[in-house]
Amino acid sequence: MENKNTMEIFNISKDLQDLAIKCEESLVDVFKEFEEISLFCTAKIMKAFLNNKVSDTHFKATTGYGYDDLGRETIEKVYSEIFGAEDALVRIQIVNGTHALSTSLFACLKSGDIMLSITGAPYDTLNETIGTTPNSLSLISRGVKYKEVDLKNNKFDLEGIKEIISKEKIKLVFIGRSRGYTNRKSMNISEIAEVISLIKEVDKNIIVMVDNCYGEFVECIEPTNVGADIIAGSLIKNIGGGLCETGGYILGKKELVSLASEILTAPGIGKECGASLGKNKEILQGLFTSPSVVKNALKVAAFTAKILKELGYEVNPEWNEKRTDIIQSVILRDPNKLISFIQGIQSASPIDSFVTPEAWNMPGYSEKVIMAAGTFVSGASIELSADAPIKEPYIAYIQGGITYESAKLAVLIAIDKMKRG
Ligand SMILES: *Cc1c(COP(=O)(O)O)cnc(C)c1O
Repeated sequence: MENKNTMEIFNISKDLQDLAIKCEESLVDVFKEFEEISLFCTAKIMKAFLNNKVSDTHFKATTGYGYDDLGRETIEKVYSEIFGAEDALVRIQIVNGTHALSTSLFACLKSGDIMLSITGAPYDTLNETIGTTPNSLSLISRGVKYKEVDLKNNKFDLEGIKEIISKEKIKLVFIGRSRGYTNRKSMNISEIAEVISLIKEVDKNIIVMVDNCYGEFVECIEPTNVGADIIAGSLIKNIGGGLCETGGYILGKKELVSLASEILTAPGIGKECGASLGKNKEILQGLFTSPSVVKNALKVAAFTAKILKELGYEVNPEWNEKRTDIIQSVILRDPNKLISFIQGIQSASPIDSFVTPEAWNMPGYSEKVIMAAGTFVSGASIELSADAPIKEPYIAYIQGGITYESAKLAVLIAIDKMKRG
């Protein structure tokens, strides 16, 4: 049997092999749904390539100031069309997701304005941008006021939100689509659509911003299709398709994207500058392959959820739950199992398989963190990666997988290692 031979290469126990086969049988319909979404998103992308007449002249590198970079301009038109946005900024000069988000926030908010986050605390790396962790350049230091409404039973607290936006003059509402590394629920597009229409009914001038990291192409439509004014994300996650080596995007209303471009470069310079240095092909090809890569990552997430559930662990989301991001968490309830699992993922990574990750004190975290990231692009979490803070209840966060085959094997190897201790 072909399957058995594959598993023998890595010495995966017979019990685990059988369980994996059983799990995949139960996942047929779930996988089919991912394939349908991938097909739809691929069609949107193909259409945008055709409409914008993408050609190999767009791969040409610009250097220096980067004026008249046809490829860069075409990429931004293609992104805008796919997201139903007026304009886009897709740049290698955006260093990561946090930079895309902070650039957007600094563009939209000035002294005296109020920012309201309605998914509780934003992703950790934004603490110093906002000023909830003190920084003399934060929004709060510059006179912006910051407020939060928490989720209520894992849903938007519609009443709480309505009350605060009716009473106070809110400039910007912030939504985190993905839960990141917390145990709340991620907010799907239909929930985001509902809350945006409620906000706009009260005050249509409120800017709605969405942190779209980890969300691209997990559903058929994106936050900008349901009224978000500005969204931001990273090219080394979903939308880079595993091919982009750096970069980020900001897209939405023309006026807001223009302001963001002037924060990114300089007032008066805006979108006009920014050499593409030969990265345009990678950005286009990464975008083109992204829905298929995201589908693989989703299959990995659902497979991981199913098999660990079968082994008696709590998982979030459930294997058959509707998804809006690629993160899967597993509650392992034991520090030794957690460490074994993460080390197992690293040991089965294409890059640095021989390195044994250890828990360490990472800046910005109150407890030690252990990470497996044996990736081609450093830190790219569209490639299989796993992280865990060493604290109760010992949750591993797993995401990515540019091929389902490699990531499935890695998960099985990690489970085997965890079981053997
Ligand atoms: C990855 C991510 C960010 C940004 O993080 P970077 O590491 O700076 O790219 C922000 N929000 C969420 C939900 C994320 O997943």
